[in-house]
Amino acid sequence: MNNDIERTLYSVEDIKEAAHRLGQQLTEDYQDKRPILISVLKGAILWTVDVMREMDIMAEVDFIDVSSYHGGVASAGEIQLVHDLSADVAGRNVIIMEDIIDTGRTLQFLIDLLKQRQAKDIKVCTLLDKPEGRVVAAKADYVGFKLPKEFVVGYGLDYKEFYRNLPYVGVLKPSVYEGDRP
Ligand code: 5GP
Repeated sequence: MNNDIERTLYSVEDIKEAAHRLGQQLTEDYQDKRPILISVLKGAILWTVDVMREMDIMAEVDFIDVSSYHGGVASAGEIQLVHDLSADVAGRNVIIMEDIIDTGRTLQFLIDLLKQRQAKDIKVCTLLDKPEGRVVAAKADYVGFKLPKEFVVGYGLDYKEFYRNLPYVGVLKPSVYEGDRP
């Protein structure tokens, strides 16, 4: 699996530091607020767990699965709700935990859904942000790293459902997805 990676963008250490930094920031910002973290499956699982462990406050966690692309390197543009939350978010301080924000469509879909369900406050904590990819105005409040428009895998992020278990974030060798590009 490691042989398929052309280069590492964010190492295990880089990610650990980012989780620590944002976990501490969230601890400060959410004292006594008992937020609910909404982890966006499947990409944000590792990020959610690592940031949660750095938060020294009472917090809940729940999961939602929305998919915007279907295993390739390009976003399909159409968002589907694959698995819903079990918690009622009405009146709650919600923190959306994302792996990566590219076009912003997935995030906007989630924000609209949570607003409709009357969440009190919605903030976004993402491991990665690709601002150049944005086609809708959705914005993250807590960002691990900003990166150029590049397709990355690892630490939860997949290519055709694989590479999620890499402990770092990297760029695939073009030979891995040759022939798949639109
Ligand atoms: P958006 O709706 O902002 O365009 O895309 C968000 C979703 O697309 C992410 O949650 C992720 O599943 C997928 N995505 C966007 N960019 C990348 C990338 O560079 N690598 C991987 N593996 N998935 C990505």
